[in-house]
Amino acid sequence: MKNASILRGMTRDGSARFAVLESSAIVNAAIDVHHTAPTATAALGRLLGGASLMGSLLKEKSDTLSLTVTGRGALGKLIAVSDYMGNVRGYVQNPAADLPLKENGKLDVGGAVGAGTLTVSKDVGAGEPYSGTVPLVSGEIAEDIASYFAASEQTPTLLSLGVLVGVNGRCRAAGGVLVQLLPYADGAVIDRLEKNALSLSNISGLFDHGLSKKEIAEIALADIPFDVFDEFDVAYRCSCGRERIAAAIRSLGEKEVRTLFAEQKAEGKGEVLEVNCHFCGARYLFTPQDLAPRS
Ligand SMILES: [Zn+2]
Repeated sequence: MKNASILRGMTRDGSARFAVLESSAIVNAAIDVHHTAPTATAALGRLLGGASLMGSLLKEKSDTLSLTVTGRGALGKLIAVSDYMGNVRGYVQNPAADLPLKENGKLDVGGAVGAGTLTVSKDVGAGEPYSGTVPLVSGEIAEDIASYFAASEQTPTLLSLGVLVGVNGRCRAAGGVLVQLLPYADGAVIDRLEKNALSLSNISGLFDHGLSKKEIAEIALADIPFDVFDEFDVAYRCSCGRERIAAAIRSLGEKEVRTLFAEQKAEGKGEVLEVNCHFCGARYLFTPQDLAPRS
């Protein structure tokens, strides 16, 4: 299967910048890790797509961004984390959650997410991480992220996200378009962008019909001159590693680490601590010596 990728550009008059994501490979990687049922696949896939598009707008190499959806629906909590180039990883609390299709034949993502909140956290450069929380508008993810941009960043943003799940449970097509207005955007361009966005309501269908990212950009920016800046691959990628996880456990303190081993022993698991990464499923085993304080 072809790699996931992002195409970025800007309107020639500087009114807006945009990014188009083709992400079926990312969604299928998430299915492989989390064994999601179709509704969970669509919800997590959209959130990963939103995080990837937002991540691709970060400036510095060390910048990261996370989206956390805390809903009262069957899916529980969802998290997606992106690096500054749009590589993502994610987690859904109840991957087996699945609801009947809606009357229009679409997966009921909003129903499975339920009412709740979206929190956007950004770790950018020096200083405290920034975090903003908004109530969910519909739980359909794209609208919720757009409402975050309007409320917390005062940056009008048009966002379409879609995931098409095939009858075999695999992702057939997925992707998204993010168009963000820049300061002093031209009013006529804004009107045109809003009209164009109506044609992107079924973004996964467009990819499923074989349209390229460039062709989708031409729909999003119809009648508006624009330039493409770059195009690059993105992937489902976890940043965990044995030493990073060992350091996180050591940071709990010697007493807490001793308690963890004591609990393992009490459960008959011997003096080995097993830790599984929520994002990629990697399994790490540690002995007390592995986690002894470092001088
Ligand atoms: Zn991991």
